Amino acid sequence: MINNRKYDIIVVGGGHAGCEAASASAKLGSKVLLITMDINRVAQMSCNPAVGGIAKGQIVREIDALGGMMGKITDMSSLQFRMLNRSKGPAMWSPRAQCDKIKFSENWRIELQANQNISFWQGTAVELLVDNQKICGVKTEIGIEFYAEAVILTNGTFLNGLMHFGQNKMGGGRISEPASFGITEQLIGLGFTVGRMKTGTPPRLDKRTIDFTQLEEQRGEPGNQFSYYYSSKKLLSPLNCHITYTNEKVHSELEKGFKFSPMFDGTIKSLGPRYCPSIETKLIIFSEKNVHQLYLEPEGEDTIEYYLNGFSTSLPFEVQEAAIKFIPGLENARIVRPGYAIEYDFFDPTQLHHSLESKIVDSLFLAGQLNGTTGYEEAGAQGLIAGINAHHKINKIDPLVLSRNQAYIGVLIDDLVTKGVDEPYRMFTSRAEFRLILRQDNADDRLSPLGYELGLLPEVFYNRYKEKSELIEKILNQLSVISVRPEFINDFLLEFESAPLKQKTKLYNILSRPQVDFQQFLLRFPDVLKKLESIPADLYKEVIESVEIRIKYAGYINREFSAADKLKRLENIKIENKFDYDAILSLSTEAREKLKKINPKTIGQAHRIPGVSPNDINVLLVLMGR
Ligand SMILES: Cc1cc2nc3c(=O)[nH]c(=O)nc-3n(C[C@H](O)[C@H](O)[C@H](O)COP(=O)(O)OP(=O)(O)OC[C@H]3O[C@@H](n4cnc5c(N)ncnc54)[C@H](O)[C@@H]3O)c2cc1C
Repeated sequence: MINNRKYDIIVVGGGHAGCEAASASAKLGSKVLLITMDINRVAQMSCNPAVGGIAKGQIVREIDALGGMMGKITDMSSLQFRMLNRSKGPAMWSPRAQCDKIKFSENWRIELQANQNISFWQGTAVELLVDNQKICGVKTEIGIEFYAEAVILTNGTFLNGLMHFGQNKMGGGRISEPASFGITEQLIGLGFTVGRMKTGTPPRLDKRTIDFTQLEEQRGEPGNQFSYYYSSKKLLSPLNCHITYTNEKVHSELEKGFKFSPMFDGTIKSLGPRYCPSIETKLIIFSEKNVHQLYLEPEGEDTIEYYLNGFSTSLPFEVQEAAIKFIPGLENARIVRPGYAIEYDFFDPTQLHHSLESKIVDSLFLAGQLNGTTGYEEAGAQGLIAGINAHHKINKIDPLVLSRNQAYIGVLIDDLVTKGVDEPYRMFTSRAEFRLILRQDNADDRLSPLGYELGLLPEVFYNRYKEKSELIEKILNQLSVISVRPEFINDFLLEFESAPLKQKTKLYNILSRPQVDFQQFLLRFPDVLKKLESIPADLYKEVIESVEIRIKYAGYINREFSAADKLKRLENIKIENKFDYDAILSLSTEAREKLKKINPKTIGQAHRIPGVSPNDINVLLVLMGR
């Protein structure tokens, strides 16, 4: 074995999953080799240059809280930050940033290069070196072999990637980049189940040919950021997004091209993301609608490319071109690159443990789009967990498994390995049972102690977290002991249409009223809370926001905590490898098959397997003497 080609961990693919994986395992101390097709395109934003959004924003906060990088890189590359869903309850608040795609990739590259534990190889992995169902390395397209104790595959949309531009088909992992061959076929040979999925992207337009005077402007919320810890010094100048709409003329031009659509003529057979349909699919599904909203989003400071969000399509270029001319503001718009669809291989994620290690090949981890997910955030989260767990595996440390009430990342991985996927999986708040616990404002509270314990979150950040957490507790305590007299506060309450007090009342109870705004209260009575004076300026906003949420939603949050406790009881009943399911005839046939395939670790996990009924769970509990 050649020593200078031997590493602890090899990461194949420098996308969003691969970058987080390499960064995490290297920070924990492993010697990592990142093999990727093009070093200049690490963490390339294949589709929309935006990070976050509903439920995805929470995932990025969780990555950051654990000591991952996506939040920091996003802040450094952000052109516009918005908190979505502010008009709804705090469980739904979701940060989203429009990014400069060139800076995003560049910043990731700088981050990875700064880590001496990471080596790079620009090339394509075509074969895994497997000895007796245990991974031992990777072979590249020019026959060079690299060796490692663990390998993390993060090939994204590249495995047997096939792009569709109308009737034209072309092999590729995304536009202008080759597909990856060999790995799928080898893994099938080793016993893996593989499927096909599809995704698509809209055309990019030349900014210089867009008439912005006709468009509605969408401004950001300056002064916000994703990361709890890294304050980006190199902020980019803000850029706005714009809104426009389709109309009947646009639809009629698109419909003329339907006969050439690979989506409708049976060429594309695989399933795409249901929540993010192409414009042609929207015209069919929502045939009663004659208007669809579109967003024009800048792709960077130094590029003329604009992303036409909402107009993903694989119709022929000529059809895209003709239809766009009828969109207000785009009458003279030139397309820089056409929209297209791509089909690619994914591996059934029920073949993975919660650690993201494969059940079939020892020390082989899979993360990102190739597990049937879609989105940078879902990929980054899996990369982080696979990176940590590959390091743990080779150092004989127990794997890190986040629970469903601890993080969206826990929900994501549990869903993947327990339920599998039949369409590209993206995170939604509705997938989490405990979404009031899994808020964007408290990801640090949920995960930063763990990130520090793992050795990923630096001490200085952990200390910042502790300071914030202690301040929140102290303020909540003060509010529960300070009472105010009616004459002190009634004018204020009446102003906010809240019933006046008749007797002395605790501030906590007053602030829990839905009409009473904490920020307004502090403006009016700045001297009431002594602790406020000691809040450092950079923590003030976060502390006040958390205090307000905890007071206003205390009832709901406590209810979720007790429901989570009940679930924990089921999670604590271990069953892995305890049963020969084929022999338990009182289980339904479907339950027998599913339980055998997934081999759940706990009754809690068994309970979540589709096809396993409460009756089947009772059978298992009875057999276990419970
Ligand atoms: C056309 C298109 C449209 C999309 N639309 C959407 C959308 O609407 N919404 C959404 O959420 N997501 C969309 N995505 C998906 C999004 O890009 C992915 O979810 C995300 O990039 C996945 O990250 P990843 O790290 O798993 O893989 P990727 O970002 O795809 O990265 C894979 C990396 O692996 C490298 N690689 C692959 N094979 C090899 C090999 N054999 N050897 C060495 N290196 C290799 C590649 O060069 C690349 O750097 C779209 C993707 C494409 C291509």
